[in-house]
Amino acid sequence: MEKNFYQFRLPELESYFQEIGEKKFRATQLFKWVYGRGIVDFQKMTDISKTLRERLPQMLSFHLPPMQRRFQSKDGTRKYLFDVGDGYSVESVLIPSKDRLTLCVSSEVGCNLACRFCLTGTQKLKKKLDMASILGQYVAVSKELRLEGKKITNIVFMGMGEPLDNEENVFRAIEILHNPLGFNLSRKKITVSTAGLVPKIPLVTKAGVRLAVSLNGTTDEIRSYLMPINKKWSLMELLAACKKHAEEARDKVTFEYVLIKGLTDSLRDADRLYDITKDIPCKINIIPFNEHPGAPELRRPSEEQINAFQQRLIKKGVHVLRRRTMGDDIFAACGQLTSAQQREKIF
Ligand code: SAH
Repeated sequence: MEKNFYQFRLPELESYFQEIGEKKFRATQLFKWVYGRGIVDFQKMTDISKTLRERLPQMLSFHLPPMQRRFQSKDGTRKYLFDVGDGYSVESVLIPSKDRLTLCVSSEVGCNLACRFCLTGTQKLKKKLDMASILGQYVAVSKELRLEGKKITNIVFMGMGEPLDNEENVFRAIEILHNPLGFNLSRKKITVSTAGLVPKIPLVTKAGVRLAVSLNGTTDEIRSYLMPINKKWSLMELLAACKKHAEEARDKVTFEYVLIKGLTDSLRDADRLYDITKDIPCKINIIPFNEHPGAPELRRPSEEQINAFQQRLIKKGVHVLRRRTMGDDIFAACGQLTSAQQREKIF
């Protein structure tokens, strides 16, 4: 049976070639053709012998999840729908900014963490994406951008799912994204965002990529209400893990903080947010809540309240940015992603 090229890391492909009686350096040659030059037609791989070129199509395929639809927002954001098999789909979002083109990728269909404010979490975990389905989001969007003379500059694992709940596939995909014989992206351009799976945070440190943490509450009481995972690992444990990461990686942690009216948006919250993060090298991204039918009881605060919250932190010298709401006209903003199946049910 043929195997999917996009499921292999380089040493694994080397072993595979040895298993089928070929030289292991063929793996490097293939990596260079596919990831380096974007060529998946064996006949064009001129440094591979003719006999092997004839044999390879029976050994390896190049299957990536097909792009089913694309949506274009008036602010330049794009959203893509990918068929990831078994009748399931995921969404990825391309976000332009002044000097960046960031791709927000999904790692799971549905999610078991059930954060109250997140649309993805209204659907239980249905499928953990394999390496090819994660890479496929990057490959398909890169291809489209190449025609426009553009390139993805940053990748964030902030789409559907909890990346540290599917850590094996996520870090395998990251290895290919980073590998100089793969897509050759700097580790500092790759960010893994977690809702707080504390014991797995060291994996992010080890992979050398950037860490983002969805904080969203400044006391255990409110955070546990919004994010049930907090009952397993408390704020104190989470913050300690973040501090450790920042020190070992010598890198700032990004704290994401969703502003929800009456729940997380008071000036007391701002003060507490400062207090609990002040000893950690970090920056804070405040994200005004994006409303959706999965959580009708939650509301976005007023502009005045959002500004007051941000100003309070700025005055204390915190490095705080407000994340612009992008792509909400195509339901591509933070917390608005879901599978096509779930969208049909809930909207
Ligand atoms: N599971 C990962 C990645 C997905 S969520 C994590 O929790 O970090 C990506 C970000 O979107 C998180 O920071 C989350 O707090 C935020 N988010 C989720 N729902 C939102 C909503 N409705 N409005 C604004 N931000 C939201």
